[in-house]
Amino acid sequence: MTKEVIVESFELDHTAVKAPYVRLISEESGPVGDVITNFDIRLVQPNQDAMPTSGLHTIEHLLAKLIRQRIGGMIDCSPFGCRTGFHLIMWGRHSSDTIAKVIKDSLEEIAQVTSWEDVPGTTIESCGNYKDHSLFSAKEWAKLILEQGISTDPFKRQVI
Ligand SMILES: [Zn+2]
Repeated sequence: MTKEVIVESFELDHTAVKAPYVRLISEESGPVGDVITNFDIRLVQPNQDAMPTSGLHTIEHLLAKLIRQRIGGMIDCSPFGCRTGFHLIMWGRHSSDTIAKVIKDSLEEIAQVTSWEDVPGTTIESCGNYKDHSLFSAKEWAKLILEQGISTDPFKRQVI
């Protein structure tokens, strides 16, 4: 018999959300009590738009550095296959508000001050598709997302 699996992300009504937003998906405890939190970092409105892979890829590399410079406990921040945002997994408990501020601050740095030398891991040795990057796209998308503002609620606009 196949085990029934419910994946929270597929239960979310993607037509009801209002991006850009940060949403706490789950808080989970391991067998020895360690807590991790999983966030939906939705930067683009689902089924209306999607970031191109090159810009998304460069944002991914930059967020790997910029989030860690702003908050401890980051485990992973990986893009959704639909290219509308990222999963952010953290050690410990964090509020959507705290994470939204970290993302906003990181995107501001991407939009304003980043030069190609600041993008980590862009060589053939350090990336799995090093030719598919665009800092121009990353910066333009960061600006567009910041213009709309990042909400701490996925369903109603509570922009920080
Ligand atoms: Zn890469």
